[in-house]
Amino acid sequence: MRRLRQAFSAPIIIKVMDRLHRAGFQAYVVGGSVRDTLLNRPVIDWDVATDARAETVTRLFQRTVPTGIEHGTVTVLIGKSAVEVTTFRQDGDYRDHRRPAAVQFVGTIESDLGRRDFTINALAWDLEQGRLLDPYGGVNDLKRRCIRTVGKPSARFAEDALRLMRAARFAAQLGFTLEPATLAAMSAQAPLIAHISHERVRDELVKILNSPRPGDGLRLLYRTALLKWILPELYRAHKDIREHRFRTADCLRQQGADTAVLLAGLLHGLGKAARPSDNGTPWSEKLLRRLCFSNHDIKRVSHLIRKQAIDYEKHYSDAELRFLIADIGREAVDDVWQLRLADVAARRPAKRKIRQKLVTLGKRLKQQLRQPAAYSVSEVVVNGEDVKQVCGLRQGRKVGSVLSELLKLVLQQPELNQREILLQVLIERYRQER
Ligand code: ATP
Ligand code: MG
Repeated sequence: MRRLRQAFSAPIIIKVMDRLHRAGFQAYVVGGSVRDTLLNRPVIDWDVATDARAETVTRLFQRTVPTGIEHGTVTVLIGKSAVEVTTFRQDGDYRDHRRPAAVQFVGTIESDLGRRDFTINALAWDLEQGRLLDPYGGVNDLKRRCIRTVGKPSARFAEDALRLMRAARFAAQLGFTLEPATLAAMSAQAPLIAHISHERVRDELVKILNSPRPGDGLRLLYRTALLKWILPELYRAHKDIREHRFRTADCLRQQGADTAVLLAGLLHGLGKAARPSDNGTPWSEKLLRRLCFSNHDIKRVSHLIRKQAIDYEKHYSDAELRFLIADIGREAVDDVWQLRLADVAARRPAKRKIRQKLVTLGKRLKQQLRQPAAYSVSEVVVNGEDVKQVCGLRQGRKVGSVLSELLKLVLQQPELNQREILLQVLIERYRQER
């Protein structure tokens, strides 16, 4: 209780609640902020429930955003902070397993808590009285570290199938288990996820990947067969490979990898059997496009999947290392190395020697990257214009191939990447007979 009192004395909350109370309305802090405070986790966003209607909330505060007026939600802005204020509601029939056909605004916090997805999210803090409202046993479930739906799980998942993903996401983020009936209903109703928009599924998947133990969340998606709808290639992969990928995701997360690197770690090589020539790229691109990842993310993941093959057992000369960096691309070197490290760390039994070689390779790559060197044609100090003028070439393709020859030369000997030297090379080796 003391923790709640302390957390909810944040100026933004006091201001919002005060304004609503003084205007004669009820107001409660609800949702994730109550849950996270009780768990001693940082609060990411604030939700307030009130009996004031959205239009009234808009009138009471100076700066508001009509986030979801039809569902009774207004975002109130104070300084740099934001609070989502939602009118107490009860949802009407759900027709398409997605959103209620209509919402009904109701008078009490108790009925509002009844529409919420999980008991741990159906808690409300009454700031005026300094008491916690917990009609569904959410506090006990927080203690037991368990996720349980409010009401009958099969009915709640059938109403809104996004809750299937939210259950897996909270399990991964909080390290909680699923109450048996909730878990059984998730498995039984997994196919309903097909009714949910790809963007919303992607958002939950990204949250799972960025949770402390993504492997646990992914394993849960597998056990309930939700994975079949989201990442079918991973779902179908051989058990050992799938498990290895789940562990790889955990290792990548511990290494601080971002979403694109995590996706590359999960998906690389899975399409190989079907398409040995492209290392699985086309299907992974299609998959990520279907899940509405941005073009930037898709490009990065595809590139990382293609460049995964770095050989860490080999001893590279400095020049070979530079060729490797040029092939991977300077900006992707660290990501590829992180992927290989996680791949080795996730092997069972542990591969200490290989890991050590990889660590040494990583140090050398970093050292190389600190030296001045050209790793792409644009970093070679002479350009296409120089090649045209000095060599008397006009054809773009020819100019391009001379520039790549020069790049190879400076990858071999970085000290040659000086204008006078390269101009001399052009004159001696590439000038057309006139
Ligand atoms: P976080 O903000 O950390 O993602 P949260 O629990 O606050 O977690 P929000 O999406 O911000 O999640 O939603 C706020 C609250 O609204 C939830 O705690 C829950 O009570 C309710 N809620 C959100 N989505 C649903 C849903 N699909 N079905 C039922 N209740 C929901
Ligand atoms: Mg929230």
